Amino acid sequence: MDIVTKAPRGTEDKLPSQMNKWHTVEKIAAQVAEAYGCKEIRTPTFEHTELFQRGVGGTTDVVQKEMYTFNDKKGRSITLKPEGTAGAVRAALENGLLNEALPLKLYYFTRCFRYEAPQSGRLREFNQFGVEILGANSPVSDAEIICMVDDIFKFLNLKNVALEINSIGCPECRAKYQQALREYYKQYEAQLCDTCKERLEKNPMRLLDCKSEICHGFAKDAPVILDYLCDSCSDHFERVKKALDEMNVKYTVNPRIVRGLDYYTNTVFEFISDSCGAQGTVCGGGRYNGLVEEIGGKPVAALGFAMGLERILMVMDAQNADYEPAKRCDLFIAGTDENASSYALSLVRQLREYGFWAECDIVGRGLKAQMKYADKIGAAFSMVIGENEIQAGKAELKNMKTGEKMTVNIGDKFAENVNSVLMAVE
Ligand code: ATP
Ligand code: MG
Repeated sequence: MDIVTKAPRGTEDKLPSQMNKWHTVEKIAAQVAEAYGCKEIRTPTFEHTELFQRGVGGTTDVVQKEMYTFNDKKGRSITLKPEGTAGAVRAALENGLLNEALPLKLYYFTRCFRYEAPQSGRLREFNQFGVEILGANSPVSDAEIICMVDDIFKFLNLKNVALEINSIGCPECRAKYQQALREYYKQYEAQLCDTCKERLEKNPMRLLDCKSEICHGFAKDAPVILDYLCDSCSDHFERVKKALDEMNVKYTVNPRIVRGLDYYTNTVFEFISDSCGAQGTVCGGGRYNGLVEEIGGKPVAALGFAMGLERILMVMDAQNADYEPAKRCDLFIAGTDENASSYALSLVRQLREYGFWAECDIVGRGLKAQMKYADKIGAAFSMVIGENEIQAGKAELKNMKTGEKMTVNIGDKFAENVNSVLMAVE
């Protein structure tokens, strides 16, 4: 097959007929984030590769296997962003946003690019909604951000989404844990996948996250991080749980969540659904106190989450969720000939200024075909204009559903005359 006629593997067209679903999710996510004081940020689709190598971590799957990296014409290594946090933090630093009132609360919608094996719920280009809070270290902020996701899902009416939380500690408690992991995995070293053999020394926690079946199996009996937390990290985790309990946000502690990106510290969490097949994680996030410093800023405590919008829509579809209704045309004005259609265009333009969806014939169809088209696009009202109507300055407005007709003035203040009639129809 000619490749020109086919979208690249792992990409998806989002068609006009699906836009009401996307808008439903996007509006609710943005509204909730704004109610929490978040402001939108838009960052470039590509960044210097080094940002992700340092920010996301050189031993993660994302950096080792999944990035879309290429050299630009000057030979600079560029990467299409695989996630949103590193870019948002880079932008906050570069533009001095951290010099303003803290905490800085940001939200974004972004496309992400990861070279993965495409399957249901796993694409090579996908969409995320994300939030980052910079300059907050209190356990209340962990609870707040988890609560924000919970609220978004509540407003979307998502059912049966389970929240799992864990703490992966600070670099100090992690050093001890990593040593314990190395010791545990030593016995299986020969059987580990090649990537994990390499990671064993540098970043043994990544072994817990490996997707290969053999490595995954060994993870089951590995030591758990919660046994290695220092007093301060353990206390932080207890206070996060208490704050969640107080808000009645239900969770389970899953000591095996490590998250796929290296920048996390302390609290990590995932929201998991059983309605979208094998790729059940619809949202992941946590605290990343080391990241800002890692990419060149002063140390700033921070935390965030990202949700996969395709997966959320899969869940909503599976649960027969209510989406905002698709828009339909308010009024189609048919013309008996080109002259009349041209006049119709001026009427339609007035309505459009009022925010109505109004249409007239722009392809030169006969009257019957125009009415058929009006029906097809589900116009709520129609009107026919010819020489007589133009002369008289009056035409008949027809309710397409009830057949009811009324005469309206088209000569003067047309939009004002029909405004209330068009508005009154559901
Ligand atoms: P997974 O374990 O499914 O690979 P991840 O840990 O790599 O997920 P994150 O980097 O935390 O995912 O990204 C946040 C969210 O983005 C995920 O919870 C998921 O909903 C979504 N997501 C991640 N990768 C993909 C993908 N390839 N296609 C579609 N959505 C994705
Ligand atoms: Mg992944």
